[in-house]
Amino acid sequence: MTLLYPIENSLYVNITNLCCCKCVFCVRNFTDSVGGSDSLWLDHEPTIEELKSELEKFNLDDYEEVVFCGYGEPLMRINEVVEFATYIKSKKNIKTRVNTNGLSDLIHKKKTAVLLKDAIDAVSISLNAPNKEVYLKVTQPAFGIKSFDAMLDFAKDCKTCVKEVCFSVVDEISDKEIQESQELATSLGIPLRVRIKSN
Ligand code: SF4
Repeated sequence: MTLLYPIENSLYVNITNLCCCKCVFCVRNFTDSVGGSDSLWLDHEPTIEELKSELEKFNLDDYEEVVFCGYGEPLMRINEVVEFATYIKSKKNIKTRVNTNGLSDLIHKKKTAVLLKDAIDAVSISLNAPNKEVYLKVTQPAFGIKSFDAMLDFAKDCKTCVKEVCFSVVDEISDKEIQESQELATSLGIPLRVRIKSN
């Protein structure tokens, strides 16, 4: 199982294959690996002990950041993300980042951004759309139409307890929708990154 994999100066953590969305652009629909890694499909959801053991194979001095991303939604396992990130920081105070769909509050049925405080330095949230209708179409979340507003609330909460917060959209949506997404992100004071579909 590929639990950790390097891409350039980042060490990625593949902590889960679980996800509550079915994004039309999801890389999992097109390939089994990212950035030259082995298959990112897991035999089972890894334990903290397995992650710690895998970490021994890597030298944190070789990386600028550790990124929770992989082949699923990391915050499906938010407790394990926080525990493993805290463990990593006990070894070296390296930057930690989570790439997330921002639906953690709906997944766990409570406010969750505060759990990331201290363990996670940066959160990149998939905005994906300028409004709830387009969001529903593009991400197909298990929680339905309320998902977009919940994701925005999570982003606002992250701004109060995480050092760096940014949004991303994939160029799957139209130029007009990207522009509207930019305006929404700006209104919330959160930078927006536009990702190319194949990335
Ligand atoms: S949230 Fe991420 S892992 Fe889940 S379907 Fe969308 S792109 Fe794929």
